[in-house]
Amino acid sequence: AARAANFRPLTPLDLLDRTIEVHGGRPAVAWHDHSWTYVEFGALVARMADWLRAQGVGRGDVVSVMLTNRPEMLAAHFAVPALGAVLNTLNTRLSAEEIAYILDHAGSKLVLCETRTAGALADAAVPVTRLCDVPGEASAGGSGLDLFDGPVPALDWSGNVSSETQAISLNYTSGTTGRPKGVICTHRGAYLNAVGNVMSLGYTTATSYLWTLPMFHCNGWCHIWGVTAAGGLHVCLEQVEPAPILDLIDRHRVSHMCCAPVVLYMLLDHDGAAPAHRVKVMTGGAAPTPSLLAGMEERGFDLVHGYGLTESYGPATFNDPGADAPGTIEARAALLARQGYRHSTTGGIAVVDETGKEVPRDGITEGEIVLRGNTVMAGYFRDAEATEASFAGGHLHTGDLAVRHPDGQIEIRDRAKDVVISGGENISSIEVETVLHKHPDVLLAAVVAVPHDKWGETPWAFVEPRRGASLTEADLEAFCREHLSGFKRPRRFVFGELPKTATGKIQKFLLRETAKTMVTQ
Ligand code: ADP
Repeated sequence: AARAANFRPLTPLDLLDRTIEVHGGRPAVAWHDHSWTYVEFGALVARMADWLRAQGVGRGDVVSVMLTNRPEMLAAHFAVPALGAVLNTLNTRLSAEEIAYILDHAGSKLVLCETRTAGALADAAVPVTRLCDVPGEASAGGSGLDLFDGPVPALDWSGNVSSETQAISLNYTSGTTGRPKGVICTHRGAYLNAVGNVMSLGYTTATSYLWTLPMFHCNGWCHIWGVTAAGGLHVCLEQVEPAPILDLIDRHRVSHMCCAPVVLYMLLDHDGAAPAHRVKVMTGGAAPTPSLLAGMEERGFDLVHGYGLTESYGPATFNDPGADAPGTIEARAALLARQGYRHSTTGGIAVVDETGKEVPRDGITEGEIVLRGNTVMAGYFRDAEATEASFAGGHLHTGDLAVRHPDGQIEIRDRAKDVVISGGENISSIEVETVLHKHPDVLLAAVVAVPHDKWGETPWAFVEPRRGASLTEADLEAFCREHLSGFKRPRRFVFGELPKTATGKIQKFLLRETAKTMVTQ
């Protein structure tokens, strides 16, 4: 009996309860000119849960949301799980067809949206409710659901979350290589990764966290629950552009933010993107280059680096050499470009060869990153075959190729599917991109494999030049001749804006298609 009494399910809901109790009067959320304390945020959560319950939502139901970074999106991360239901966040850039597939596959009970995302849901086969555009809109004759006002219903989730391995969220992968897969996350995993974020980034009540990362992406890498656990402030941002980012950093004395490297490139290319105080930025989702990291440090941003997947609740590794790491800014940036050590609460990470044996820690031998333990998904929803395949041998296979350094750090060489195999030699697209990023006129570069009669594949580089630069193929060819061995040098350089996902990842599959059509022309 004593053991039962002391074994409470780990759930992010408990983190919010404690913060309301201890830091109830502190600011929780800022959005446009409005702000809410944790007690007020708790009321928003309770009203949302009550409204959902009235719609018939209960334990095990899937609730979908298609929302930008706004207070109700934060609230949904507590209100839906509080009913024992499962939160399914939809990428706001999905097409009607992709949405229809996900809603059907997930068996969604209903969808919450806003004016901006309502159009994409016009033909949804599931009930759709639009939220109000601004607090008070509904009472002023607007039509959206306003959850900011009204009585505060009681919210007791304890009977709805009886097991920590219950599902908390269902996140569909972007499906760049096939149909999207639904990643099931548990209350326990979400709790642990959130706590891991607090440990890694040092969140406290003084934290002011800017939402440059879409909350719909892997539940904001679990920072929604992490910042809340610490009683920090969530600063909502809908438009990921330099001017509003810099304005909010200043206005709310932002201490932390997270984003993909591509957002940092955007800031780097923006004149005057230097905040008045230093901001800690966790970047990840794709490999940041040393030159980007060094450039951002000079601008006043203290970078830390994380690596992970939707299947690992976001961060699975973490790298923070610290400002007092030895050497020049360039040397520090080269260290920081590594993916680092395992994240505080990840159960285990290894780099293994085809037989499952760990590769030597020599910084040279490549293997695949595999994960096990606490913050690995429960499986793919209604897809036993894909689940089985990704857990072959008992570990989650990431498809990422990496080396292990003598100090234990992991460094990714490439995604298995992005490696260019030319004349039997493996070329790491990241290595070639790192060289291209050293060119002062290159803002962004992506290297992809293009079929070739003689070599099987050859690397091509797609390049987005910096504003105002006049860059030619000949310039880059000469530059690569200086820095890369012959077989690694891109056969062609194609200039233009690079296609990106909502999180800001470069869509290499689209570049491969473009290249293929260029070859056959
Ligand atoms: P998608 O597969 O649609 O891109 P994810 O967001 O789950 O969806 O992406 C996970 C992948 O992103 C990883 O398997 C890895 O290839 C890449 N990735 C994430 N973070 C990093 C990083 N810090 N460095 C290099 N690659 C990264």
